[in-house]
Amino acid sequence: MKFDSLLIHFGELSTKGENKKMFINCLYRNIKVALDNPNITYKKDRDHIVLNLNGEEPEKIIKRLQDISGIHRISPIYRGSRDMNELKEQALGLIKNVKGSTFKIETKRGDKRYPLNSYQICCEVADHILDNTELTVDLHEPDITLHLDVRDDCVYISCATYLGCGGYPLGMNGKVMMFLSGGIDSPVAAYSMLRRGVKIECLHFAAPPYTSQAVIYKLEDIIAKLGVYQPEIKLHIVPFTKLQEDIYKYCDESYAITIMRRMMMRIGTLAAKRYRCLAIATGESIGQVASQTLQSMQVINEVTNFPVVRPLAASDKLEIIDTAKRIGTFDISIRPYEDCCTIFKPKAPKTKPHLGECYFYEKQWDFESEVKDCVEGIETIVFKKGKRVE
Ligand code: ATP
Ligand code: MG
Repeated sequence: MKFDSLLIHFGELSTKGENKKMFINCLYRNIKVALDNPNITYKKDRDHIVLNLNGEEPEKIIKRLQDISGIHRISPIYRGSRDMNELKEQALGLIKNVKGSTFKIETKRGDKRYPLNSYQICCEVADHILDNTELTVDLHEPDITLHLDVRDDCVYISCATYLGCGGYPLGMNGKVMMFLSGGIDSPVAAYSMLRRGVKIECLHFAAPPYTSQAVIYKLEDIIAKLGVYQPEIKLHIVPFTKLQEDIYKYCDESYAITIMRRMMMRIGTLAAKRYRCLAIATGESIGQVASQTLQSMQVINEVTNFPVVRPLAASDKLEIIDTAKRIGTFDISIRPYEDCCTIFKPKAPKTKPHLGECYFYEKQWDFESEVKDCVEGIETIVFKKGKRVE
């Protein structure tokens, strides 16, 4: 006897009251698209989604489900009978295949009309297991905990649970314009947004010939990894060369990075509005480099009143690297490349830039028309399930 279905628990979703139905429907659609498997059949109820595997192996499917935001836990279950004699046999058949020498039973009655109460159900089933196996009961640290959940039409029997990534179903929390550089941090920041249920479109500032096509290939590989979490991703490439050259022409080297980032924020804001994103997101982490001190961030942020989300603000580099390795972007990110931030790197960038100085440099030329040109010149690449389609 085998666990033949998977029970999806929503976690945080259960607190969402009225919106709950919308959340469940969104998650349900996301799961169907991600699994893309016609053999699997689905059933939604108020607290769960049940996947009937119809013979598909659970391991691979559980692994895939663990990447879908909005799923709190996944339990392999058997849809047992409400008839006590049959239920006892089914519980026995299942527990016999599970490793361990001690057990306990936990019962929940989703259907309160069931004639036996939870305690009585536990006793009946436990007695049958004790009579027919070598197992003994341990209520404190059992090897196996058998869960019984009495539903309207069956009893869910389970004894293992796998953690999902939590958060909200993708698409429920709007969309951000993700600044994607090709370094280690921004893909991890993108992943943080995705697992929160926020969709992304990616924006990359390219400065050819100073930056090469290799960066774009790198971004394609990174997006292929992120495609696991969001099936369709757009990458917008901003032609940044002219503006960048002018920054170096008109600004003191020590202010070049600050001004460049102010320009990125201006362009990002316009692009975010154009593509209906509700915020900008970046991979910045406080104190990591000169442009990421709080003083710098304040001066850079001054050009926009658009929300800028920095999911890695308080993460340290080792944590970020761990996540990058886990989601498979680390090896791609460390491939050598020239980012527009790295080639024009000044020797002594300001860690505490002043606004007054920024205003002074920005008066030296008509940057606004160049900002507009950057937005007008955006080229968009579309990826579906990680593959470039346009
Ligand atoms: P990473 O590049 O992995 O994000 P980093 O430590 O190299 O990390 P910076 O180069 O200082 O960080 O950039 C900080 C953030 O600014 C990046 O995380 C990214 O969101 C954004 N950014 C930097 N360069 C670019 C670029 N060329 N295109 C788009 N966004 C960029
Ligand atoms: Mg970078």
